[in-house]
Amino acid sequence: MSLEMEMRYRTIQQRIEAACARSGRDPAAVTLVAVSKTYPREHVDALAQLGCRVFGESRIQEAAQKIPLCTSGLAWHGIGHLQRNKAAVAVELFSRLHSIDSLRLLERVEACAADAGQKIQACLEVNVSGESSKYGFAPEEVPAVLEFLPQLRYVHIDGLMTIAPFVADPEDSRTHFRRLRELRDAWVADSGWPLDELSMGMSNDLEVAIEEGATMIRVGTALFGPRPKPGEAI
Ligand SMILES: *Cc1c(COP(=O)(O)O)cnc(C)c1O
Repeated sequence: MSLEMEMRYRTIQQRIEAACARSGRDPAAVTLVAVSKTYPREHVDALAQLGCRVFGESRIQEAAQKIPLCTSGLAWHGIGHLQRNKAAVAVELFSRLHSIDSLRLLERVEACAADAGQKIQACLEVNVSGESSKYGFAPEEVPAVLEFLPQLRYVHIDGLMTIAPFVADPEDSRTHFRRLRELRDAWVADSGWPLDELSMGMSNDLEVAIEEGATMIRVGTALFGPRPKPGEAI
């Protein structure tokens, strides 16, 4: 398992470096978030051993069980839709949330972070493609959210996240990633609020995302191998 993991990790690093070389970017400006949801702690520990430091989980219950068992000193990010009644646990588990997708959730996370005396970084999730199945703010909702941000004391919104529709050809994701970057540039110019982070790109489309400015890519299966089905022993 470790040798395969090492080969997959090196391959991802090479893909990141190649995409950065093509677009004149510094690989150090792209954070690999290893999405370990559904994989056991042994996989996390093996990847941590190879030098990977940032991991992402999407289900709170799974994360709460797994994280305390894993190598210490890793950064854990929450990447999936978060229910408001799980916000307090999320604040304890994660140093960053990628997927703030409503004002009510943002207010709840701020309240929980204040209660815990714990600051947290976060991205606003934007539904760029307009798919009704997707969470996230509609682009037209975001300017009002940005106006609200200076009131927050504990949640520091410093970027945007999007999930492109699943497509066979990663090139088809490019318009969505480019759109997120262009929206970001316009919102920063209008609001004066810095949004340096762009969380976009996954296993199949990370090159395109990097070429369009991703600063965080969320990669699961390309690092850990085929994802076990729910309930399946690993
Ligand atoms: C599962 C997941 C990923 C990783 O997907 P892969 O295709 O396995 O790389 C990335 N982002 C989010 C929000 C996810 O839920």
